[in-house]
Amino acid sequence: MHTDLRSDTVTKPSPAMKAFMLDAPVGDDVFQEDPTVNKLEQFAAEYFGKEAALYCSSGTQTNQIAINVHCRPGDEVICSKDAHIYFYEGGGIAKNSGSSVHLLPGDRGRINAADVRAGIKDPNNPHYPLTTLVSLEDTMNRGGGAIYDFNEIKAIRQVCLENKLPLHLDGARLFNALVENKVPPKEYAAQFDSISICLSKGLGAPVGSILLGNKDFIHLARRARKVMGGGMRQAGIIAAGGLYALQNNIERLKEDHQHAKQLETALNALNWVEEVLPVETNIVVARLSNHVNVSELISKCAKKDLHFMAFGDQMIRMVTHLDVGANNINHTLSVLKEI
Ligand SMILES: *Cc1c(COP(=O)(O)O)cnc(C)c1O
Repeated sequence: MHTDLRSDTVTKPSPAMKAFMLDAPVGDDVFQEDPTVNKLEQFAAEYFGKEAALYCSSGTQTNQIAINVHCRPGDEVICSKDAHIYFYEGGGIAKNSGSSVHLLPGDRGRINAADVRAGIKDPNNPHYPLTTLVSLEDTMNRGGGAIYDFNEIKAIRQVCLENKLPLHLDGARLFNALVENKVPPKEYAAQFDSISICLSKGLGAPVGSILLGNKDFIHLARRARKVMGGGMRQAGIIAAGGLYALQNNIERLKEDHQHAKQLETALNALNWVEEVLPVETNIVVARLSNHVNVSELISKCAKKDLHFMAFGDQMIRMVTHLDVGANNINHTLSVLKEI
């Protein structure tokens, strides 16, 4: 039995998704003539009650494009110190947009309205960089899949409105949050000026992310995408996988969360595990006792065809997804017990 818990990006398209992709009508998307891309963008925009959407190659690209549209060189973005946009995008905020970051500590990566308010610099004081964007991440990857309290998001939105600042969401795993907190997608999305969602994570599409916003924002984002070399031609063949995922794979994310809960319980019962971050969605992060050699543990498990990742100091991360079934969870539990 092969069990890959390294990431929810390792999913492969199902036979039904592949058939849908092969049948998709295509055209030149840089001319905005790909009917499948257009359909996907329209579907996503309507789902979240936004005016427009843009299909892009990755979640890094949708985040970086959003930052590029919102910020000018010398500006500053407020986000968590653990934010993907800062930690895992190769310094793209500085490199692509010439902007810097103001990093807030956050609770498992979730920043709060009071810290955002205190972090906004006085725009009339020429010493400071101009704060021009606030960015949140939901669910929070480095926070072990933690979900934001929707009331806190609304409070942060209020601070942004008072200071005329746009609010961006890195919603790579937004659907994992929404199937749990049951906030209606349109009500949730109304809090943000721009939203990035990944189709290639738990939703199981092979490629792509979507950027959402109003018409003017997406118009500028389309230009930024072209500048970054992200304009794709007959992209409908991959976009079809994303459309299939949005139409079929959202509700089943709950299964992934149940599987992650099972892993949490099993890990908590092991005497060589110090702590497991409370599981809220599909990410399980555990801190191991000091005597455990993490890389040795990982290679021992890999020999039994169970794969997961080291995640910083004495930590491991396991992520459930649509290619992890009940039998894979049983496999994982038995390997962890005997190791
Ligand atoms: C995966 C991920 C992204 C985007 O990653 P890509 O691999 O570039 O698609 C963005 N934000 C978060 C929180 C992620 O987990």
